[in-house]
Amino acid sequence: MIDRFFSAGGPHPAPAWIDACDEVQARFGELWLKGHNRDRFVAMVVRNVRHGLRRAGVTGVTVSVAHGRLRLKPQKPSDLSILAHILADTPGLTWVQPVVRVPHDTAAVQAAALRLAAATWTTPGPFAVKARRSAKNAPLRSEALAAAVGSALAVATGRSVDLSAPAWRMYVDVSRDDVTLWAHQVPAPRGLPVGTAGTALLLLSGGFDSPVAGYQMQNRGCRLDAVHFHSPPFVSPASRDKVLDLARVLAARQGPLAVHVVPFTAIQVGIRDAAPERLRVVLYRRFMYRIADALAASRGAEALCAGESLGQVASQTLSHLSAVDAVTTRTTLRPLLGCDKQTIIDAAHQVGTYDISVRPADDACALFVPASPATRTPLSLIEAVEQHLPVAAWVEAALEGLERTVVGSEAEA
Ligand code: ATP
Ligand code: MG
Repeated sequence: MIDRFFSAGGPHPAPAWIDACDEVQARFGELWLKGHNRDRFVAMVVRNVRHGLRRAGVTGVTVSVAHGRLRLKPQKPSDLSILAHILADTPGLTWVQPVVRVPHDTAAVQAAALRLAAATWTTPGPFAVKARRSAKNAPLRSEALAAAVGSALAVATGRSVDLSAPAWRMYVDVSRDDVTLWAHQVPAPRGLPVGTAGTALLLLSGGFDSPVAGYQMQNRGCRLDAVHFHSPPFVSPASRDKVLDLARVLAARQGPLAVHVVPFTAIQVGIRDAAPERLRVVLYRRFMYRIADALAASRGAEALCAGESLGQVASQTLSHLSAVDAVTTRTTLRPLLGCDKQTIIDAAHQVGTYDISVRPADDACALFVPASPATRTPLSLIEAVEQHLPVAAWVEAALEGLERTVVGSEAEA
């Protein structure tokens, strides 16, 4: 069962059943591929979770790693929902399980199962108990325990057991130290912990695509910085505010995120006045990427990241993507290249950026755009046009005028 409560962003009212639990645990994802580096990746997940707890202002939480799982035990039971929310938005984790933990005692396990079932099994239907022993030398055997829990639940709830198509499942895990039960698990982002793959500079517009692209690369371990190109007075301050709000959603999963707002009006006016109309957009984008590449160098970012999707608009054809890539010295991560727009919009709902991206505001990319922009242009032609533009001076002036705002710091939270 997937609750909106557990997806990233937005408000997260707690489901009532969480009151029946007293801890939350999560499984590590792809980290098993990491061999002897695994400990470093696990430590990074723990660090990121601790940052999340601090940003949320939750104190007194016991954080531990045991039996291949990350465990969080709150001091105040009412904090459990926020702990689950933080874990469910932490790259490097796969499943989040609000749990009850009891000693190796069959009666205690049965009582805990009844408590959980009463709170979580809200509609009729058969159930199954899935028990496993994660430690070979644990005192209770999983088959016997599953049978004991199953019969207690059947008697108390009047429900039947159906192992092949249950409406509800009770999970029981017997470890060397204790027994853990849960009846709900919700997906976390999977992937790798933020910070393990270096920093990427995200070209962040106010649209749907770029925040989702940034989110995806966070899920592969990238920490993000952001750059936004702003063209006042042609583009309203609302677009800048949107970008800062989008950056806040991404910052919630990594800690402080620096947003660089670059003045872009002079470059766009200069291109409008000096270059063929049909080439405006591809020229804008070459300047955006030049500036981003230089900014990335000064910030120590190893890659750029952008939200292009192949063929979405005239600037996102193979010809124009290559024209843009020709001006950068580092790679550009484009995780949405193969994605359909509706898929991206659906993802924006999950990420928690949809409600911000949907706010009306113009973007610099759309300024002075002709009715039929070129979709394919030989690089030699673009370069010939740029010969007549003061490329280096424009880039330098834009970099000099940039404003940096850090969002998502603990002070801001
Ligand atoms: P989005 O792609 O984010 O929905 P969009 O569709 O308005 O916004 P496109 O024209 O598709 O933007 O631009 C492609 C990509 O170029 C964006 O995903 C983003 O990475 C980058 N980009 C566009 N405009 C800007 C801007 N004003 N500042 C920074 N990056 C931008
Ligand atoms: Mg787009």
